Order: sequence, then C-alpha cells, then structure tokens
Amino acid sequence: MLIKTAEFICSNTQIDKLPEPNKPEYAFIGRSNVGKSSLINAITGRKYLAKTSQKPGKTQLINHFLINDNWYLVDLPGYGFAQTSKKNRSDWEKFIRAYLTRRETLQCVFVLIDSRHEPQKIDLDFVYWLGEKGLPFMLVFTKADKHSGVKSDQNIAKFRRALKQWFEEVPAHFLTSSETKIGCDELLNTIGDINEN
Ligand code: GDP
Repeated sequence: MLIKTAEFICSNTQIDKLPEPNKPEYAFIGRSNVGKSSLINAITGRKYLAKTSQKPGKTQLINHFLINDNWYLVDLPGYGFAQTSKKNRSDWEKFIRAYLTRRETLQCVFVLIDSRHEPQKIDLDFVYWLGEKGLPFMLVFTKADKHSGVKSDQNIAKFRRALKQWFEEVPAHFLTSSETKIGCDELLNTIGDINEN
C-alpha cells in the first residue's frame, strides 16, 4: 500500500469523543519504549507524525491518524511503565479496555513486542486478554536491526510457543525495524488486504 496522505485527527482521553466510527481502524499498542511511535512514523513515511517518547508512559491518549482518507491508524498509550501509580495503571486499563472492546470499526490490534527480549508476562497477559475477548490481533516484533536475526527468531519462536497453549491458531507476526524499514511494507500490505476484504 502506498501512503499518499497521513493526517493527525485528534487525541482523546474519553472514548465518547472519538471520531465517528465510519472507517476501518487499526490500533497499535505495546510497552512504553517498544518503538511504537518510531514504527508509526516509519510505516507512514512521516518523520514526526507520532511523537517519539522521552518520558515513557507520559501521554495517556488515544491518537487518531487518518491515512489515505480511508482508514484510521490509532496510536494507543503504552503499557507497563514503571514510573506511574497503581491508580494511573488502572485508569489506563479501563480506558484502553473500553476502547478495544467497544470500538466497532476496529479491524486489528497490532501488539508491538521488543524482539530483543524473551517473552514478558505483561505482553503475554495482554495478548491472552485480547484472545479471551475474541479481538483480532497480530504481533509486531520491533527493533530487528538492534541484534542478530537468530536472537529475534528465537524470541519470536518462544513467544509463539507460549501462545500455542492458549490459541488454536497463533496469529501472524511481523519482524520490523523503523531504522531499516524491514517489515514495514508487509505490515501495510496486510492492512490493505484487510481493507479490501
Ligand atoms: P514508544 O515509547 O513505544 O513510542 O517508543 P519510541 O518510538 O519513542 O522509541 C523508543 C526508543 O527506541 C527511541 O530511542 C527510538 O529511537 C528507539 N527505536 C525505536 N524503534 C527502533 C528501531 O527499529 N531500531 C532502533 N535501533 N531503535 C529504535
């Protein structure tokens, strides 16, 4: 898919203020610092569309970007940041869970996972929850350029193995880097395919 236009629409803290649900929507989520903003900028070919974070977990907003005038890319707040209170975490959870379970135009949740690390409980728990709710998701392993391909393959295999206990079919995954752009076309083409079907 070619990106012709990518436009910031709005930031929200309330789900009843989101844009009209009249276009297919794809959400990006992951731990703080996983490389979510960098990946959004890489796939849209815009350097500053999503703000890369200096302070993990600071922004607790749902950001909508309109792509090619026909679908929304949704940047969700990062989870798992250390420097926040329990209250903030539970507010985050309520807010995001409400968005994910109620947004009828949501086509797929892209769960970003740092390919350098072994499976982390917080990521697995989130993915299990998506499965429990029957929400469609795919895994996006980030920062592939930071280490050898063997290491990411091993971590991906471990993650998929962990999910096999819970899912009859483990959803597709992508290995990406916002530096080399590996995996970015595949990811966009997958969105294009879903939009066409
Ligand atoms: P976010 O908090 O998930 O939005 O993460 P950011 O996009 O702000 O990235 C966190 C840090 O990881 C920044 O220092 C980025 O430059 C770096 N980073 C993100 N993606 C990549 C990548 O694909 N390769 C490399 N080498 N660094 C990355």
